[in-house]
Amino acid sequence: MYYPRSWSKSIIRLSVYVGLIVLLGLYVGNVTLVLLIASLTLLTFNYLHLYRLTKWLWESRKMSPPSAPGVWEHVYEGIYHLQRRNRNKRRNLGELVKRFREGSEALPDAVVVVDDEARIVWCNRHARIEMGFKWPDDNGRRIDNLIRHPDFINYFHSGDYQYPIEIPAPTNPNKTFEYRIMAYGEDQLLLIVRDVSRVSQLEEMRKDFVANVSHELRTPLTVINGYLEVLSDNDSDQGPFINKAMSEMGTQTQRMQALIEDLLILSRIESSSERIYEKTIDMKAMFDLIEMEAAALNKEKKHKITFKIDNKLRIFGVETEMRSACSNLIFNAIHYTPEGGEIKVHWKAKGGGAYFAVIDNGDGIESKHLRRLTERFYRVDKARSRKTGGSGLGLSIVKHVLNHHNSFLNIESKVGKGSEFSFILPEELIYESQR
Ligand code: ADP
Repeated sequence: MYYPRSWSKSIIRLSVYVGLIVLLGLYVGNVTLVLLIASLTLLTFNYLHLYRLTKWLWESRKMSPPSAPGVWEHVYEGIYHLQRRNRNKRRNLGELVKRFREGSEALPDAVVVVDDEARIVWCNRHARIEMGFKWPDDNGRRIDNLIRHPDFINYFHSGDYQYPIEIPAPTNPNKTFEYRIMAYGEDQLLLIVRDVSRVSQLEEMRKDFVANVSHELRTPLTVINGYLEVLSDNDSDQGPFINKAMSEMGTQTQRMQALIEDLLILSRIESSSERIYEKTIDMKAMFDLIEMEAAALNKEKKHKITFKIDNKLRIFGVETEMRSACSNLIFNAIHYTPEGGEIKVHWKAKGGGAYFAVIDNGDGIESKHLRRLTERFYRVDKARSRKTGGSGLGLSIVKHVLNHHNSFLNIESKVGKGSEFSFILPEELIYESQR
């Protein structure tokens, strides 16, 4: 138990001691000699206790301090108090580590802790079973020597752990593992590995299913559309009802064809393994083409469309995908801006990257919809979108294209004022030698 030392008591005690010594000196007639002897005695006493203290600190097995008089008792008590406090802290820390380890062992995922030099500090049971780590043999071994998949090595050394990666398991290539890294403690990293084989199998099945169904529907629709065109070209008047039915069937078949085309584009982009750094895109030529298509689409609405394009700004990427993304944004602005509106298209270098934007002065979109706009088939106004012939997949395609090109769609919109759909492609995608 801590109690404060009373320094006044110590001073009084020392004064009494010195007073008595002086009196004794006066009595024997040699104050200096008696004072000298008394000082030596005091020094010896203190040295003796210093020696006992050192012995207790370094050699004694006993926790409790030896009894000592005066200030020495206070010193012993102080050290004892500190020791007890440290012991309690260590015990609490030990409990915490034990609980953390028990918790990590109970996790359904593999957990590995690595230090700042990529050496394994600790791993749980699942890491040993699923990833084939041996414990304690692998303690201190570099993680990039044990997981040698190039994607993991790139991910691990990139330092950018915002998103997890999925790669085949080191022990079983038929399994897919998701690797997620996060900063942990001081200069340590926590690697969490999860078996996502089932999820990725289902995802593959879903993609294949959509691609196959779309592909299979394409042929019968082309046949129906062909016959409808032949029948409506036929001069014989079949009466108003049949004429209306033929025209409506033609419109709906074309809508279905457009929908299927968009579904196919989306599934192609989703499963695209085309490398974005392999080919460059002549953006000027691409915008020239889109401008012509936009002019054709704009015949009815007569918007004022201006293209402000940096002709020299070329990028690396997949041309078909980029064209699909840019044209979707421009055609949307044409479709959803009321007649006679103003649409500006920008393509320029900005903040180290390449900036593309479509700005319109249309009706704008309420902020509650913005977050969901890129979802498949999400429309603000279903009836109106159908009238424009939109499939509801346009912005979803844009999102996937930008994701593939390491970017994302930014949407700003004010009701009654208009909308801005933009994205910035990262610096690494800019093709420098043309500039
Ligand atoms: P759709 O095929 O219906 O156009 P999109 O995915 O391209 O599907 O767009 C989703 C919805 O976002 C549209 O239905 C429309 O309501 C809204 N939208 C897209 N672009 C604009 C725009 N420039 N101005 C206003 N609303 C827009």
